[in-house]
Amino acid sequence: MNKNDTVITTIEDIGVSGEGIGRVDGYTLFIKDAVIGDKVEVKLMKAKKNYGYARLMKVIEPSPFRVEPECRYARACGGCQIQEMSYQKQLEFKAGKVRGNLLRIGGFSEEELQEVMCPIIGMENPFRYRNKAQFPVGTDKDGKLVTGFYAGRTHDIIANTDCALGVPVNKTVLCTVLDWMEKNRIPAYDEQTGKGLVRHVLIRYGFTTGEVMVCLIINGEKLPAVEKLTEALGRIDGMKSITTSTNKKKTNVILGDSYEVIWGQGYITDYIGDIQYRISPLSFYQVNPVQTRHLYGRALEYAGLTGQETVWDLYCGIGTISQFLAQKAKQVYGVEIVPQAIEDARENARINAIDNAEFFVGKAEEVLPEYYAEYEREHPGEKARADVIVVDPPRKGCDETLLKTMTQMKPERIVYVSCDSATLARDLKILCKNGYRLQAVTPVDMFPMTVHCETVCILSRVK
Ligand code: SAH
Repeated sequence: MNKNDTVITTIEDIGVSGEGIGRVDGYTLFIKDAVIGDKVEVKLMKAKKNYGYARLMKVIEPSPFRVEPECRYARACGGCQIQEMSYQKQLEFKAGKVRGNLLRIGGFSEEELQEVMCPIIGMENPFRYRNKAQFPVGTDKDGKLVTGFYAGRTHDIIANTDCALGVPVNKTVLCTVLDWMEKNRIPAYDEQTGKGLVRHVLIRYGFTTGEVMVCLIINGEKLPAVEKLTEALGRIDGMKSITTSTNKKKTNVILGDSYEVIWGQGYITDYIGDIQYRISPLSFYQVNPVQTRHLYGRALEYAGLTGQETVWDLYCGIGTISQFLAQKAKQVYGVEIVPQAIEDARENARINAIDNAEFFVGKAEEVLPEYYAEYEREHPGEKARADVIVVDPPRKGCDETLLKTMTQMKPERIVYVSCDSATLARDLKILCKNGYRLQAVTPVDMFPMTVHCETVCILSRVK
């Protein structure tokens, strides 16, 4: 097979990024936007010895799993990867991916997985679920201001103010901002030159309260014609907070290190169950509130609390899971690396009148081992209390030092919440070699239409 060859193939599998996989005479083709079951005509774009990347030219016979996408930009836009796959098939694909990683990387057997894998929790309505979006602002080739999403591999902006995963108010906010920029000749930031002012518009929406937050990320300190902007945005239903965050660095990191309130307050309020959260522009907060309830509900169930337990919530963010746990535990300790998130966590505990949660700033892999070592020194012969440890690390998973300390502390149960099943599988293997048994695994679809999947697991101590 050579570059630019055009061939016909049937898609037999789904790759890790949601792409279709087809074969021609033993040669493997990876084809973006092709759905499993499709018969397609493709053109080879990049040829390696045994495999290549091909472009979908024509769907000759559509797969029974192919659906009309909700959004007309689904293919070009980097936000969604599998919108043209039926939702049922998406769920099967994600559950299969988690299972496959546990099998190959985790070293669990088919029989073990048969016993522990629970059905994936999907959404009833898998669109318009996101409570947060960050839209880049730029200028198109005709010099017109545009906003939308990046096109996957590049930073070309696919102009679209009405993302099908986002809330309807996004469109009103984005059109208001663009209109204000045009009328006041405010330039968009240009990544190439580092010039221009407005980089991104961050929008957050509280599903339970209807409160709206807008934060403009700017390549400067101040906004010109700021009253005109705040007056127009302030008229939008539910608007509570308008801020700016300065980011003058040439980087892919979106937000600056701090923010300034230019209208209203610096946060919005939202509820998960009975717990109230104050969310500021910089804090991490789960983006899918409907599925977050399921995820935390399952995590809480797995924690099996009776009211007597001491629980550690590592990688706690603004203490979202900690507050849930605190309602059912004796004492909760949260650990998180971002100081501002810990401030929010303490404030959230205060407004919910939770007095049995304490928060520490630092790396989980440093705070827990230090606590453990100090406890051993001060209470010789006594066990440092941890009945349950909950971890919810970023994609890279847990540090090995942390896993070691966790097993030394001998909690009865470990609840592992993960956004990357490959690192999850790697870590579970270590925990299971050191006195723990995997009891149940539930994938939760927090991000329909994308290839990402959240997983929550319970491990118990082998006596
Ligand atoms: N459990 C929270 C947040 C999970 S996201 C929730 O559900 O809302 C992961 C969090 O881990 C982020 O807040 C990130 O800032 C934090 N983090 C990243 N590396 C860390 C480390 N080494 N130690 C502690 N926290 C860390």
